[in-house]
Parts: sequence; C-alpha cells; structure tokens
Amino acid sequence: MKVAIVGAGPAGAHLATLLSQNGCEVLLFDAREQPWEKPCGGGVTTKALREFDFLRKDQSNKQLVSTVRVIGASGREVSVQPKSDFAIYSRAELDRLMRKRAIDAGARFICARVARITNSAGQWDLKTQDGAVYTCDFLVGADGATSKLRPKLGVEFAPHDFFYGLGWHIKTDRAADWDATRVDIKYLRSGTGYIWAFPRTDHVSYGIAAKYQERTPAQLKAELLDLIELQLPAVAREIKMAAHHSTPHATFYGAMIPSLEAASWDRLKVSGDNWALIGDAAGFVDPLTGEGIYYAIKSAELLAEAILTRANDYEARWRTEFGAEMRRAAEMIPRFYRGSFAGQPFTERVIQFARHHRGVRDTLNDLIAGDQSYLGLKQRLFKSLLSI
Ligand SMILES: Cc1cc2nc3c(=O)[nH]c(=O)nc-3n(C[C@H](O)[C@H](O)[C@H](O)COP(=O)(O)OP(=O)(O)OC[C@H]3O[C@@H](n4cnc5c(N)ncnc54)[C@H](O)[C@@H]3O)c2cc1C
Repeated sequence: MKVAIVGAGPAGAHLATLLSQNGCEVLLFDAREQPWEKPCGGGVTTKALREFDFLRKDQSNKQLVSTVRVIGASGREVSVQPKSDFAIYSRAELDRLMRKRAIDAGARFICARVARITNSAGQWDLKTQDGAVYTCDFLVGADGATSKLRPKLGVEFAPHDFFYGLGWHIKTDRAADWDATRVDIKYLRSGTGYIWAFPRTDHVSYGIAAKYQERTPAQLKAELLDLIELQLPAVAREIKMAAHHSTPHATFYGAMIPSLEAASWDRLKVSGDNWALIGDAAGFVDPLTGEGIYYAIKSAELLAEAILTRANDYEARWRTEFGAEMRRAAEMIPRFYRGSFAGQPFTERVIQFARHHRGVRDTLNDLIAGDQSYLGLKQRLFKSLLSI
C-alpha cells in the first residue's frame, strides 16, 4: 500500500517509521526542509519515556528534570521530585531525531507544502505548492493544530476548541542563571491556563497558554513577563525595550493548541475511506495541560496498527486508548482553573494541600508524570484528604 503523510512532526514521522519498517511505501511531506524550534514547551512525560523506547534510549537531545515547582497565583508554591525520568526536548532536536528515524526506515521525504488534495476512484492526488502531483492509496493528515487538510476532509473545530500559547525561547548563561534540572509551572491570576519555564539543553522555553480569546495577547505577555522579570530581569528588560518582539537573547513565538471541549470529543471522527488524521491535526492534545507529544506518537502507533492489520478500526482504537480520558480532562477545565474550594481558587488549594500532605503531593507528582488518570483523580484526592 502507498501511504502519503502530510506533516513530519512527531505524529507523521513516527507513523512513517512504523509503516516503512513494515513494508509500506511511504511519502512523507513537510513544508520545512529542516526541523525548527516549533512553539512548544517540549515537555515529555515519564509515561511517554516509558512507552516509547526510542525516546528513553536517546541520550543526547533531552534535558532531564529532577524538580517540578508548581506555583499558585498568590506565589504559594510546592515542589515535587519526579519518581522517574521526565524530560524537556528542544523541538528542533526531537523532530530531527524522529524525521531521521523515518528516513532511515525507508520513508521518502518530500520537502513541499501540500496545497490541494483530490480523491477519485479510491486514489488520492496530492498537489504541492510547486505544482508537482503525487498519488497514493491512503492519505494521512499530520499537519498540526491548524491543519489545512482537516476541513478538506470534513472535520471542523470551533474557536472554543483551542488554547492560544505564546512565549519566548531564551538563551541563558546556564551556570549563572538557571537550575537546568528544574521546571516551573505557574497558574494564572485569573482565567483558564498556565505559565511554564522549561529548560532545554541550550535555552529555556518560557510560555503561557490560555483558552483562545479569553485574554488578549498583550495581557498574556504582561503576565508571563512578570515571571521572567523575577527570574531573568535583564532579559525581561530587553524584551520590554523591544516592544515584546524578539531580541538577541529571546525569540518570540505564538501558536494555537487544540483543547477540545467535551461535546467536541463526543462527535469527533478522524478517519474515513482511505484517510485519517493523527496528532494535533486530529485534536489529540490533553485539553487541560496542552500535552500533545505523547498523543501525537500514540495516535501514530494506533493508526499504524489499524493500517497494517487492515482492521479499519482506528476510530475504536483511539477512543479506547485515550478518548474517555481526554473527554474527562475537558470536563474538568472549568473546575480546575476557575473553580474554588473552601473560599480559595482550586489551584491554590491543591498547592496548599500538597505542601502539607504526602498523599496529595504524590497524586500531583503522578499527574505531572502522566501516570494518574483523570478518570480516577477525584477519588484518589478524596481518599488522600480523608486520611489527613
Ligand atoms: C505553545 C505550545 C506549547 C506546547 N507545549 C507542549 C509540551 O510541553 N509538551 C507536549 O507534549 N506538547 C506540547 N505542545 C503540543 C505539541 O507541540 C504538539 O502536540 C505536537 O507538536 C503535535 O505533533 P504533530 O506531529 O501532530 O504536529 P506538529 O508538530 O505541529 O507537526 C506538523 C508538521 O506539519 C507540517 N505541515 C503543516 N502543513 C503542511 C502542509 N500543507 N504540507 C506539508 N507539511 C505541512 C509542519 O511543517 C510541521 O512540521 C505545545 C504546543 C504549543 C503550541
């Protein structure tokens, strides 16, 4: 079977690797000749490292984390030490690693932007921006959060199905400025979302993500700069003097992140006759945290199994594997970010309890590691609190 995959990010590259290793002819398209520092925190959870061998074995490109500091809007904080590896990747490095695996496995990489797709008699024609035409039997959209293939295949997301994230990749003098084994997560003063400071091997990714259109980019920049000011005052000054654009030490980025609402998960359908969507293009991102790298790779695995076994059951596979979990995360958003508990914001209470109670701290640790399901979260927290 000849499969065309549009997009060579983690989802597309991993699918290309698996299908090529199993005898399919694979065309892997990407508009970018070389992987780039895509807007992303680059956080790869313990769960992802445990499940995906090639990430666990990779020694050179990731920054391992030994402390996760969670900070409330009030400044109250708690630190947890991940029980197993938790890593931060530069996205240029992660994508380079994954694209190389695909090419080594035999996928044909085509550097071109796919501009048009047409289907006739069970065959797909893909026309690239430079006018070339390619044919295939099976078409995969792995072209990211703002996928152009998605609407052409009849799948639509609404503005409320997104977060918007922005930030700066900041070069620092690591020895002097930064503990490179610590990540910071800070909840917002109001609204849905959070701030992160994730150290990579040669820079720090500072970012803020919030429900799309809930706050203006200017408001998001101001709140993120307050944290940068505390941690790297000279860089914060430089960014302000550059009117919040890029500077010699800080590269600005901004991008959409899928965060599907519960009802959108219910009606989501990401495959049909000889086509499928994976990764961000399918909306497969944890709606509460914005974690998408795990789901990009996992959905590629599930689609590869469905194609290779000719079972035509991709839809059932992703729903069984993580559909209910994602829907639950979407349901929890209002309570988690905007709710209150005993007169305080919910996030403040979580930090307060975690500071004083080992069971709550362990639950928070497992949640960050990707090892605590949202489906069982309420029960576990309740049990922990009862044993105070
Ligand atoms: C600000 C921000 C912070 C994030 N932080 C984290 C985090 O810390 N941890 C985490 O797990 N996830 C995070 N995510 C989510 C994560 O970045 C994505 O879930 C992940 O990159 C999805 O992989 P993908 O392969 O589906 O898509 P992408 O990585 O977006 O790859 C899509 C590829 O398609 C190519 N493409 C697009 N259109 C075309 C076309 N027409 N023709 C050819 N090629 C095309 C692009 O060039 C790109 O290479 C974050 C996202 C954002 C925006």
